[in-house]
Amino acid sequence: MRGLMQNFPLHENSILDHAKKHHASREIISRSIEGPIHKTNYAQIHHRAKQCAQALVKLGIKPGQVVATMAWNTWRHLETWYGILGAGAVYHTLNPRLFPDQLNYIINHAEDQILFLDATFIPIMENLAEKLPNIRAYIIMADKTAMPKTKLKNALCYEDLLAAEDGDFQWILTDENDAAGICYTSGTTGNPKGVVYSHRSNVLHTLIAAMPDVLGPGNADSVMPVVPMFHANAWGLAFLAPMVGAKMVMPGAKMDGESIYELLDSEKVSFTAAVPTVWLMLLQYLEGGNRKLPHLKRVAIGGSAVPRSMIEKFDKDYGVTVSHLWGMTEMSPVGTTGSLRAHHGELDYEDQLDIRLKQGLAPYMVDMKITDDDGKELPWDGKSFGHLMVRGPAVARAYLKGEGGEIVDEESWFDTGDVATIDAEGYMQITDRSKDVIKSGGEWISSIEIENLAVGHPDVAEAAVIGLPHPKWDERPLLVLVPKEGAAPSARAIKDYLKDKIAKWWMPDDIVLTDEIPHTATGKIQKMALREKYQNHRWTDEAG
Ligand code: AMP
Repeated sequence: MRGLMQNFPLHENSILDHAKKHHASREIISRSIEGPIHKTNYAQIHHRAKQCAQALVKLGIKPGQVVATMAWNTWRHLETWYGILGAGAVYHTLNPRLFPDQLNYIINHAEDQILFLDATFIPIMENLAEKLPNIRAYIIMADKTAMPKTKLKNALCYEDLLAAEDGDFQWILTDENDAAGICYTSGTTGNPKGVVYSHRSNVLHTLIAAMPDVLGPGNADSVMPVVPMFHANAWGLAFLAPMVGAKMVMPGAKMDGESIYELLDSEKVSFTAAVPTVWLMLLQYLEGGNRKLPHLKRVAIGGSAVPRSMIEKFDKDYGVTVSHLWGMTEMSPVGTTGSLRAHHGELDYEDQLDIRLKQGLAPYMVDMKITDDDGKELPWDGKSFGHLMVRGPAVARAYLKGEGGEIVDEESWFDTGDVATIDAEGYMQITDRSKDVIKSGGEWISSIEIENLAVGHPDVAEAAVIGLPHPKWDERPLLVLVPKEGAAPSARAIKDYLKDKIAKWWMPDDIVLTDEIPHTATGKIQKMALREKYQNHRWTDEAG
């Protein structure tokens, strides 16, 4: 017998339709690129997304074509996503921090037809434009008064374009399995690869993210996605907030501690999300004055491992709960969250912290396992390290144009490239990226765990651990530290600090101080660059 329920297509624009119908006056507050705070609501966003879709159709965009955005989180960026989708087209988010060569490659590879961009990014595109034959228009996301002079030949003004349309437009609804968005992953080797989300996968992912143990903000929340829309779909928040009718607060181009604090305070933000570096900047700013966070309840942190000291500080000094999140572009991106189970309420704080530090539990629609080098499944004992494999309706099954070949096995398992343990309760913990693991005397050392502890030292701003060749042990860990301003911790002091916190043989053999640790376009430590930099490092018998 077949089920007799309706086949309601899971189309992204049904989310904005819902927000307009049920949460019309809910606000979207943005720090505009021009500077002032801008206020709008879901009804207006809906109307302007329709104008945007109309304009795109007039510019000749056909269903299935790709339209790129290079923009910070603002109301206009939100409108363009739904406008592009409503024209039946596919949004492609460009990370402005990528190298020009990479941008050049991905814009041509995805065959982007039109590019929406913030005025800030005009110089980047002016330098690239002649290598981008497919782009027929650059739409500058500004009004006429803020339109800068540009050498871009086919530049159009966003607000003029919208003003010419009446918004009387029917979304062009493609099949729910058709492409909705593209985001490239920037691997350390080879060209970036395009992950292609469908309407269905994005809607299902939004429902995953909406679960209370995942991100789960509700209607009463004021939600600030600090994570950019070009970093793995802003972790789903650009769909999730309108789905539940939450207020949105968009930080624009300014993500320094002071600017973020200003919005957290003035817009009574109750839920926010970003990578650890953003929160390091905020916490430093908060410490610099007697500032509190009375409205903020929860902060989701992911993209890199969350240091223990960060969770503690948010908890104890500000009464804010950290949700640790692991995921990746290929997973839309949510994978796991470090939420506590009911019986953990009985544990003391430090033991709870041990659990919350783990990357955490997989929600429904994310399936995971760990395997050895031969693909054999490993036990969930919290000790066995293995390749972390995932599958689910919001996990990639191939990259755009088949780049990288087959990326899933016959049972749809996708190798995340992370090495992890899973304990008996199902908590996954990342040890390293597989290409960054440190193998010493046949045993594994978790660089992430040492880094996490090292940043808890009061003189340390950032830490990275890399494995370097060692004559006796194959590899030994080198700890690279960026000290806090004005501080110069000695190797001895750091080792003393780590002594009781890690196994003896995990202790880094050497500790070096540096001004800066290199980062990728999404804020991750570039271990390969560090290994190159320190390739001629000579081990000392006793550092300090
Ligand atoms: P991306 O696709 O750029 O978001 O990168 C995904 C990768 O970031 C993952 O495969 C992990 O290696 C890393 N990552 C993301 N979240 C975390 C986390 N909470 N802890 C440790 N690593 C993480």
